[in-house]
Amino acid sequence: MLCTHNTNFDIPMKYKHIFEPLDLGFTTLKNRILMGSMHTGLEEEKNGFEKIAHYYAERAKGGVGLIVTGGIAPSIQGWTGPFSARMTTKKHARKHKLITDAVHKEGGKICMQILHAGRYGYHPFIVAPSKIKSPITPFKPFKLKQSGIKRTIHDFVNCAKLSQEAGYDGVEIMGSEGYLINEFIAKRTNKRTDNYGGDYENRMRLPIELIKQTREAVGKEFIIIYRLSMLDLVEKGSSWEEVVQLAKEIENAGATIINTGIGWHEARIPTIATSVPRAAFTWVTQKMKQEVSIPLITSNRINMPETAEKVLAEGHADMISMARPFLADPEWVNKAKSEKEDEINTCIGCNQACLDHVFLQKVASCLVNPRACHETELNYYKTDKKKKIAIVGAGPAGMSVAAIAGQRGHKVTLFDADKEIGGQFNIAKQIPGKEEFYETIRYFKKQLELHNVIVKLNRRVAVDDLINGNFDEIIIATGIKPRMPKIEGIEHSKVLNYLDVLKFKKPVGKRVAVIGAGGIGFDVSEYLAHEGESTSQNIDAWLKEWGIDKSLKSRSGIEGVVSEIEPSPREIFMFKRSKGKFGAKLGKTTGWIHRSTLKKKKVQFINEVQYTKIDDEGLHYTQNKEQKLLKIDNVIICAGQTPFKELVTPLEEKGIKVHVIGGADIAAELDAKRAINQGCRLAAEL
Ligand code: FAD
Ligand code: NAP
Ligand code: SF4
Repeated sequence: MLCTHNTNFDIPMKYKHIFEPLDLGFTTLKNRILMGSMHTGLEEEKNGFEKIAHYYAERAKGGVGLIVTGGIAPSIQGWTGPFSARMTTKKHARKHKLITDAVHKEGGKICMQILHAGRYGYHPFIVAPSKIKSPITPFKPFKLKQSGIKRTIHDFVNCAKLSQEAGYDGVEIMGSEGYLINEFIAKRTNKRTDNYGGDYENRMRLPIELIKQTREAVGKEFIIIYRLSMLDLVEKGSSWEEVVQLAKEIENAGATIINTGIGWHEARIPTIATSVPRAAFTWVTQKMKQEVSIPLITSNRINMPETAEKVLAEGHADMISMARPFLADPEWVNKAKSEKEDEINTCIGCNQACLDHVFLQKVASCLVNPRACHETELNYYKTDKKKKIAIVGAGPAGMSVAAIAGQRGHKVTLFDADKEIGGQFNIAKQIPGKEEFYETIRYFKKQLELHNVIVKLNRRVAVDDLINGNFDEIIIATGIKPRMPKIEGIEHSKVLNYLDVLKFKKPVGKRVAVIGAGGIGFDVSEYLAHEGESTSQNIDAWLKEWGIDKSLKSRSGIEGVVSEIEPSPREIFMFKRSKGKFGAKLGKTTGWIHRSTLKKKKVQFINEVQYTKIDDEGLHYTQNKEQKLLKIDNVIICAGQTPFKELVTPLEEKGIKVHVIGGADIAAELDAKRAINQGCRLAAEL
């Protein structure tokens, strides 16, 4: 339902706060949704400008109120990595015209983020207020001299003016996350004794001068967003009183909007991972609302319209920033506007194809939407040759190929032996902190419906069903079988595999050995170490678990706070045969969270073992040539997987060509990112 009350914009009643325009005086944003800054890697790619222009234009077309680009350095010293994107010359500005024109053509608005990486830069020319190395980068920074600070301010101002020439509607000055500006503000990284160090007046001088001079240079009718670190989450960060003082100064200096930054990159508290509850930090922005009068943007783990609407309706902020949800679904805003939220491809907060890619210097994408950042090469055009297609297996691989083949106009039948679609995602969604996986199944269910895919559940397909079905194309997406290692006593009644625990809910005793420390070993341990409601569903419990002080009396929100951990209902021992750190192969940006959670639950990690046998006494193994026995109630096998492709060979022997995707194709190192990517790419070609 739409209301056209007193404005030129249609406002859906259900999300009336989201769709209330925001008047900035000299310009109006059509809604309260900002696409937050994200580096994609396209910035540095060959023909990257053309690709990134398409990428932003799709999001503008999708209805977002304002886009903020990935960080652009104002100088070589400010690079995040060697040869990363910068805007220092008119030539750079001319290239960006491609982006601003594309966005404006779609009716959107776009600001360019100016990011000086400071000591987080991954190159030898990095600078910082003091010569202190960050714990997450290998280079020690040079200390900026007074002349260097002046030059840095000039670089920011020059960059802002060039962005204006490039046609941007404004800039976002990145003052949070532990980058250069933040490094000046915090005692942790600023040990200077000149007028940019020492007391707080001095430490906040840089951002204030930056904003004042930028405003002077760009005039009144240009958006300046300042991204303020409202909660540092590191020792010796800012106190709340200091953050408020800075916010007021920023307002006076001429900023149009303040955006919320939560946590430095080196903080050991998760801020955007899937296990962080939705909207877990909007209370911080809400506190700031009482202190300043310019609009405030809040962020972090807001991914669905209901959450965004609630945050705005409760007055926590004036705008919502979402970044990854726009990789997952460029149409997010338009779908919310037409109240088709069940059609939104929800960001599940996994980081697997976005942040993990960026950290590995790969172009970003999205696990649930492989088209993200690949808009110029992966497209799902309507077919002019309608085919009858059978897909066996409705896991991530099967669901994605079915949905897109259906969308392209093929006649698709999707079979699954189970009573519901989703495959292993139905298991993954039960892990505490992985509840978002429900959303992916909901999304595909709706897509299958919309594109008239015939779904046949409780249907174990046999070779003859496929031969007799007269299909033009047969796709095998039957997934995997859990691997059962050859250990003496593997048939013992104490032994369960991960499906017995997660799917068939077999009872598990109080002392447990988990064999295998891959993603599933970690997830099973997490499942067994929790009881009752997952903290990812309860903001206050989650904040306590990670030692965050909601009253903000503690400096940085954490100093002196003791975490309150619910003890594990079981003693858990995780085993692996190989050397090295547990969880080293988990996601680059999330592995440490899983390790930290299990350590807090006192899970014991035991590596470099060989399994001898399992019997009534327990698990016998050798470590350092010493024979050991662990008395346990159960052994849970999480030792990887092998392809489940029984249908393939008999069909091929009869000369029938099949496509094999997902786990059925290659089980080693299979994840949903590969399964969905393979499904989507096959569907695009059928
Ligand atoms: P599956 O999901 O295994 O689906 C195969 C489907 O085929 C099943 O539904 C099965 O019933 C059906 N089937 C098989 N044979 C037949 C037949 N003859 N007739 C009809 N139907 C048949 N991946 C990630 O990327 N990130 C994660 O965080 C993550 N967490 C996980 C947590 C857990 C606990 C588990 C178990 C897995 C997790 N995964 C994760 C892995 C991810 O779920 C798999 O990589 C993905 O599901 C593989 O997709 P698939 O479509 O190939 O196979
Ligand atoms: P995996 O990551 O390959 O791990 C398998 C584990 O089993 C390893 O720790 C291995 O350790 C052990 N192992 C292998 N063969 C064994 C044998 N014969 N005997 C005893 N131990 C053996 O596989 P997985 O945990 O099953 O996960 C499957 C896929 O799902 C993964 O590729 C992963 O990407 C995905 N997943 C991802 C996440 C995530 O959070 N991103 C979560 C869950 C699953 P040793 O060789 O050292 O003994
Ligand atoms: Fe969200 Fe995962 Fe996609 Fe990143 S890869 S945008 S976290 S769903």
